Amino acid sequence: MNGRMQGPEGRTIAKEALETMERYDIAPTAENYAVFSSFAADSVPELCEAVSSRLEKNEPLDQAFCDKLYEEHFAIARIQEIVMASSGAMNKELQQVRETLKAAEQHTAEYGEQLAGAETAMGDDADPNEVRGVIQSLVAATTRMQQRSKELENKLQETSSEVVKLRSNLERVREEAMTDALTGIANRKRFDEMLRKGRRSAETNDDEMCLIICDIDHFKRFNDTWGHQTGDQIIRFVAGCMTRNAKDHHTVARYGGEEFAIVLPKTGLPEANAIAEKIRSTVESKRLLRKSTSEDLGNITISLGVSLYRNGEAVEELIERADANLYKSKKGGRNRVTTDSANAGRAAA
Ligand code: GH3
Ligand code: MG
Ligand code: MG
Repeated sequence: MNGRMQGPEGRTIAKEALETMERYDIAPTAENYAVFSSFAADSVPELCEAVSSRLEKNEPLDQAFCDKLYEEHFAIARIQEIVMASSGAMNKELQQVRETLKAAEQHTAEYGEQLAGAETAMGDDADPNEVRGVIQSLVAATTRMQQRSKELENKLQETSSEVVKLRSNLERVREEAMTDALTGIANRKRFDEMLRKGRRSAETNDDEMCLIICDIDHFKRFNDTWGHQTGDQIIRFVAGCMTRNAKDHHTVARYGGEEFAIVLPKTGLPEANAIAEKIRSTVESKRLLRKSTSEDLGNITISLGVSLYRNGEAVEELIERADANLYKSKKGGRNRVTTDSANAGRAAA
């Protein structure tokens, strides 16, 4: 969970989301808020792209479209639960704001009437007593107006804090839904998202992007010898070695049972190879002891495949090439890195 949903940025995002919803006449439901606060925060690339493209084409952001976005990006059981729990509070807040606004509107109208009356009462031939009376009632009306404005301001402030809280809850749950429980690194869903995001950025900015896929050697043997729990310990160990050697802008993910992947945006083959090699040697060099009994687990090794994104190709092709290279590493004797051949540059697509 990042901290951007708290403090001023969170409030700006909440405000922007509510403004967008108002501008396009989108019903103020918690589900729609989830969609448009993600849009305002630019936190879900595919969702942002869908909304932007719709706006560019001047197509309506109707409820069916909002439902589809919500369904695609937030309809994970736990997220739904939290949204449902928050939606009562959210709707109540919005209802209160609407009522306060309505009351303020009425007071403004009354105030306008008083002012209009004052204009007539204070004509050239006005009676001084009458003028005094009018001034007194104007002062009273002004005080009431000021009070209403203050109430409105407080109400909006409270609502803003509520939506920031809701937004922050959603962000946290989304983060959890994208994280692998065993290792704490990204899960397959986040991997897919980051790979597609990396591809879009590579296409737009003409950047290089690489992919590393890694598989633990003879893992079944470890599992059979030491049991599943020790197998899990090894998985966590490899995940840690990968995370420590990747850069902050890389995404280290658990791709499958004992398979991992790293998405490396803005990274060319030499750097990706160096990182893969560093991970391989780190894993090989560490002596791992079985947690429960401190027995030496012997050498753990991994095999890796690296591929470089080629202009215009689908992410599936990039994955297939990394996979094929991983397979070559296994065939070649394991504990090694195989990479796209040097002439397989991005122009070769
Ligand atoms: P290779 O060197 O060819 O990769 O051999 P391997 O034994 O690692 O390959 P294989 O794919 O045959 O075995 C993978 C095993 O990983 C199968 C399964 O029992 C085990 N496994 C998959 N997911 C998990 C997990 O989450 N925890 C544990 N402990 N084991 C897992
Ligand atoms: Mg495997
Ligand atoms: Mg394996």
